[in-house]
Parts: sequence; structure tokens; C-alpha cells
Amino acid sequence: MSPGMDALRVDVAIIGGGAAGLMCARVAGLRGRRVLLIEHAERVGKKILMSGGGRCNFTNTGTSAANFISANPHFCKSALARYTPQDFIALVDKHGIAWHEKELGQLFCNDSSRQIVRMLLDECAAAGVRVETRCSVVRVQQHDRGFALTTTLGEVRAQALVVASGGLSIPRMGATGFGYALARQFGLAVRPTRAGLAPLTLSGTHQQNYHDLSGVALPVEARCNGQRFRAGLLITHRGISGPAILQISSYWQPGDDLRLNLLPDDDAFDALRAQQRAHPDAELRSVLAELLPRRLAQRLCELALPSLPMRQYRGAELRVFAAQLQAWPLVASGSEGYRTAEVTLGGVDTDALSSSTMESREVPGLYFIGEVVDVSGHLGGYNFQWAWSSAHAAGMVA
Ligand SMILES: Cc1cc2nc3c(=O)[nH]c(=O)nc-3n(C[C@H](O)[C@H](O)[C@H](O)COP(=O)(O)OP(=O)(O)OC[C@H]3O[C@@H](n4cnc5c(N)ncnc54)[C@H](O)[C@@H]3O)c2cc1C
Repeated sequence: MSPGMDALRVDVAIIGGGAAGLMCARVAGLRGRRVLLIEHAERVGKKILMSGGGRCNFTNTGTSAANFISANPHFCKSALARYTPQDFIALVDKHGIAWHEKELGQLFCNDSSRQIVRMLLDECAAAGVRVETRCSVVRVQQHDRGFALTTTLGEVRAQALVVASGGLSIPRMGATGFGYALARQFGLAVRPTRAGLAPLTLSGTHQQNYHDLSGVALPVEARCNGQRFRAGLLITHRGISGPAILQISSYWQPGDDLRLNLLPDDDAFDALRAQQRAHPDAELRSVLAELLPRRLAQRLCELALPSLPMRQYRGAELRVFAAQLQAWPLVASGSEGYRTAEVTLGGVDTDALSSSTMESREVPGLYFIGEVVDVSGHLGGYNFQWAWSSAHAAGMVA
């Protein structure tokens, strides 16, 4: 493929060499299709490389539709059922990649996420896939019951076009709005996008109340809009982070009520009453420091009620304070946005696609897979599983 030469003819052109694009290329290639994978960055799989702290949380054994956010919560079911976490684990095992379960079904490489990229590239090579990096698609048109692509490396004619260009998160890793623009060009609806799995920011007095506690971490249950996640909280200079916050951030929008249960494993009133009986002369803040990180305990006392010896509190006062500890309000001002978000919420409207093949209902031969689609997973390996499953669905038919 070089500029100025005759168009390269392939059966399937795939735009985007990330998790979904690589898997789709492999599956279509194994069916004997001539596949061209186009990636505009200098290498494929950059997000895989940076994922899971460099160890790629490549799936979750507990994957179900309940772990995904979409305007149509049923859309993901068919693809997930036909290419399951077990299927991906079998592939990983075939390549001798050692892995471990961290918690709650989250599977990570023992060694490095580089192994997952290597595995996918080896699979693509074995399936005869042609991979072009540093190649940008300039224009796409329907042509002769297929597609004509103008790329920086020349013209391409493809019977099927698979868009696997990902979402908007982490622009410095090559994220673009390309897939959404292409969807609109072909008349597919795109649902509004926003950053998901992102830290939240605090501002004004809300930030002043906590910013000097930066580095404090504790288990909490974060609640918002009827959703709840029990996991770690981390206080940062700019706001709050940690898995519980990343998870709830996908359900939070400015102005929404966000509550933290700071003692998710205890009945706070029982715990305070027990401390009052055991240590009547101890001050509230030192009692609280037995239950929570010391610096946070001190701050909560400053914010909620003066720290007195425990015997001086009436039961009703302790009951009110306990209720506060189990539904502590945090007024977030915003999210850290796409700069750090792990995923993009929203995207190509699932109503426009077949759930069993990912093909456009209106434009035969045009497919959308992975994060560009309005299906976003919770934290914990679900987003890669969606990439593998949706890619497999399209790769089996494109
Ligand atoms: C820091 C971080 C850590 C993460 N960790 C995990 C994890 O451990 N487990 C998990 O399940 N999920 C994780 N995720 C989410 C996961 O990485 C994504 O959901 C997944 O990569 C989406 O796959 P995709 O193939 O749809 O998109 P991507 O992986 O984003 O791939 C899209 C590709 O298309 C290319 N591209 C874009 N536009 C064009 C264009 N115009 N022309 C050519 N190429 C183009 C991009 O360069 C990119 O290579 C993480 C995300 C981040 C940001």
C-alpha cells in the first residue's frame, strides 16, 4: 500500500488497532477473509499496554449485562454470551500467558500487558492480517456495494468496514472522535458522550475541607442515583479518586447527590455506643481514629460536631453523627474528564446496530465495535471483555 498506486482491495478494512480492532481482525482473518487493520498511531494496542497498571485486567469472570451502562441495557447480552470470558482465557492459556485473579473475578497478567498485545499480533499474523500503523483515514465513501477509503498510505477498497476507533478518553494515546463523525456521516445516531471511570474534583470550601488529607485512603461505599459501589476511596489534592469513586463517577453528573458510607462494614451507631461504654473519658476524635484514618477522623469531628469526651454525648447526638458517617455528603464540582477517564460513556446508538453482528441496520457492511459503541463497562476488566465480545461478533460475519 503506497500513495499513488492502484487501490488495495481487501474483504474487511478495520479502522483502529486497539483491543477490539485486533480481535476482530484475527477472527475475520481466521475465516479466510483478507483483512487490513489501519492504526494511526505508531503502534497498536497502546491502551492495552497502559491498562491495569501495566498488567492488563483483560477480563472479569463475573461478566454480565449488569456490569455495563448503555441506553439499551440488553444490547450487550448476545455478543457477551457468544464470546465469553472463558473463551478469552482459553486464548490467553493457549499462548502460555500466566495470569491471576486479583479480586471479584478480575483477571490480570502476572507479568505484563505487553503479552496481550503480542498475543493479538501473533494471532493476527497467523490469520494473515495486514497491519498498517501510522496510517490515517482521510475519507470514507460507499462504493460499489462496499467502501472506498482514502488513507495517507493510499486508496483502499473494502467489502466491509469495521470501525474500532475507540472513545475519547486519553487523547494523548491517540483517542479521537473519528468513529462518531463516521457514524454521523452514514446517518447513524450518536448518543451524547462524557467521561466515565474518572476521578471527581472538589472546589471552593469543599476542596479546602479535604485537600490537605491528600493520600488518605479507606474502604467506603459510594452511592449516587440508585447505584452503590463498595471499594477504596483515595483523597487527592484536587478531589477524590480510588475504585469506588471511579465506579460511581460513571453514574454521577454535576449537581447529583453523592454520598459515602465511611464505615461500610459496621453499624456506626453500635460502634460509637460500644466505644462510649468502653472508653467514656476518651475524646470522640481519638475514638473515631480507631475506626477511620486518624487525619480524616479529626477532620470529620471538626466539620460535624465538637470533639468531647465520649460520656458527654447523648444517645441521640451519637445517632445523628453515626447516620452522617454512613451517608457522608460530598459535593463534587466536576470530573477530571477525558484526560484521565478510563472509558467514554455514550457513543454510537445501539438502536442503529444489530446486537448479534454489530452491523449497521441501514448501511450493510458497516460495523461498529468496542468503546465507540454506547456500551461502557464498570471498572474490573469488563471494558476489555466488551471489546473482545463485540469484535468477535463482527469478525464472525464481516
Ligand atoms: C488508563 C486506562 C486503563 C485501563 N485499564 C483497563 C483494564 O485494566 N481493564 C479493562 O477492561 N479496561 C481498561 N481500560 C479501558 C479499555 O482500555 C478500553 O475500554 C478498550 O481499550 C477499548 O477498546 P477499543 O479497541 O474499542 O478502543 P481503543 O483500545 O481505544 O483502540 C482504538 C484505536 O483506534 C485508534 N484510532 C483512533 N482514531 C483513529 C483513526 N482516525 N484512524 C486510525 N486509528 C484510529 C487509536 O489510536 C487506538 O489504537 C483502561 C483504559 C485506560 C485509559
